[in-house]
Amino acid sequence: MLHQIMDIIAQAEKVYQQHFTAETHFERAIFFSWYCGIGDCTFCYMSAEKHAKTARRSTESILAEIILCKALGWKIGFVSGGHDAYTKVEFLELLKQISRVSDEKVWINVGPLSHAELLKYQPYIKGVVASIETINPTLHKKVCPSKPIGPFEQMLSDADSLGIDKAMTLIVGIGESLDDFLLLEAFIRKHGIMKIHIYSLNPHDGTAFGNALPPSNVYHAEWIARTRIAFPTIDIQAGIWLDRSNTVSLLLRAGANSISKFPALRHFGGKEARQVEEQVTRAGRVFQGTLTTMPKTVTIPETINNRAGVAHKIESYIDAMRRTQTRQTLTRT
Ligand code: SF4
Repeated sequence: MLHQIMDIIAQAEKVYQQHFTAETHFERAIFFSWYCGIGDCTFCYMSAEKHAKTARRSTESILAEIILCKALGWKIGFVSGGHDAYTKVEFLELLKQISRVSDEKVWINVGPLSHAELLKYQPYIKGVVASIETINPTLHKKVCPSKPIGPFEQMLSDADSLGIDKAMTLIVGIGESLDDFLLLEAFIRKHGIMKIHIYSLNPHDGTAFGNALPPSNVYHAEWIARTRIAFPTIDIQAGIWLDRSNTVSLLLRAGANSISKFPALRHFGGKEARQVEEQVTRAGRVFQGTLTTMPKTVTIPETINNRAGVAHKIESYIDAMRRTQTRQTLTRT
C-alpha cells in the first residue's frame, strides 16, 4: 500500500518538474480578526474561543506584517479573518491600504461575496478563496453547519464572469476519505479553480477535534499528489503546522508549489524553521526568501497612513524574532 502511494508521489513529482522550476517559497496568510460571525465550524479554534466583534488587529499591525513579509521574501497567501468582523466599507479601506503597501493585488478569503462586493473589491484583489474545507457533502454539513457550499459556488461563478482568479481550501483528516478525491476533481474542473490550499487537520483544544489525531503526512501528501497529477498546472499550497516541519520534503515532492501556515514569525530562526529550510533542500528545491535570517533592510513606504505607528509595530516584531533566535542559539550551545 505504502509502495503504491510512493509511486503516486513519484509520478506527481515528475508532473511538477515538467511544469514548474525547482523553487518554492513561504506564503503567509494575513489574519485580521479573532471574531467570526459564523463561529461553529467544528475544526476551527473560533468554535471554541468566542471573541467580541471588536476583536481584530490594528491596521498598523497588519501593514507591519505585510512589510516584513516583503523584506523576508514571503508572499501573501491571502488576507483572511472571521466573517463579519469588518463592515464592507471598513474592509474596502483595509484592502486599499494593504494593496498599496504590498504593491500588488491580494487574494482574499472572507466568506462568500456577492457580485456587488466583488465589483467593489476588484481593483485591489487578485482573486477570491472559497473556504470549502471539505468536499464531501454529508461531512460538510456536519463540520461546517452554518457555512454551506452553495454561496461559495455562486461567488466562484461571479468571480469567473468578472475575470477574478479563483482558489479554494481543503482540510484533510476531518472524516473524508480518498474516495472523495473524485468530488474534488469535479469541483475544480467545474469552477476553474486555479489555486488550492491543502491543509491537514490541526486539532485545536476545546473543539470537536480536540482529541483527534492529525492524519499521517503520507495521507496529506497523497491528496496533494493526486491533485498535482489531475491538474498539472494548478497552484498547490501545502499548509503545515509546527509539528509538520519535518514533512515538507514529502509534501513538495508530492507536487506542492509552496508552503504556508507554519508560524513563521513566532518561530523565526527556530529549530523548526531551520528544519523547513533543510527539507526544502532535501526535496531538490531552492527556497525563495528566508525563515532564519534577519532582514538587512525593511522599507516602509513614505505614503503609508500612520507611518510611525507601523514602524513601531515592525520594531516589536523584529525584537520578538531576535529573542527567538537568541533563545535557539543558547539552546544549541
Ligand atoms: S467560517 Fe472560517 S473563521 Fe469562521 S468558524 Fe468557520 S472556519 Fe472558523
